[in-house]
Amino acid sequence: MIVERPRLTWYEKLYLPQILGGMGLTFRHIFRKKFTMQYPEEQPKLYGPYRGVPVLVRDPEGRVKCVSCQLCEFVCPPKAIRITPGFRAATDTTANAEKEPQEFEIDMLRCIYCGLCQEACPEEAIFLRQDFAVTGYSREEMVFNKAKLLELGGTQNSEIWKWKEK
Ligand code: SF4
Ligand code: SF4
Repeated sequence: MIVERPRLTWYEKLYLPQILGGMGLTFRHIFRKKFTMQYPEEQPKLYGPYRGVPVLVRDPEGRVKCVSCQLCEFVCPPKAIRITPGFRAATDTTANAEKEPQEFEIDMLRCIYCGLCQEACPEEAIFLRQDFAVTGYSREEMVFNKAKLLELGGTQNSEIWKWKEK
């Protein structure tokens, strides 16, 4: 199949009107409202239950809310969570459950921020923060351990809202 080249008129062959037209369009955009954001100095406003980085939380008494049931590890689609279960000390009179994770790792490079871990957790011990920019210099750095997850998560109410009657 032969594609015929359209024949240009003498006016089109000048090219100048097209160049001037393009420059005019650029010039008009200078005065329009700007939508470009100077990231990371400027951050976008996030609305509603935005699903960002998953983190672990403590209750107001400073206890780790996670009871190491491993439900989140089971439901996590990309298998980003790895839990090493452990028992709380029998002598710990402040313990709220018999188990807590010895180690709890989330590979942020695998995490797809789906929020299923938060949905599945019966203890409301894991939450998705409104952070979306997690960075690091190596793959190892992007595997957040229990200490880091708890530091990011901070403290939450000890009540478990999801089991309350609406
Ligand atoms: S947000 Fe989704 S992908 Fe990320 S750790 Fe939770 S369940 Fe896994
Ligand atoms: S974070 Fe929640 S679902 Fe995951 S192991 Fe701990 S208690 Fe279970």
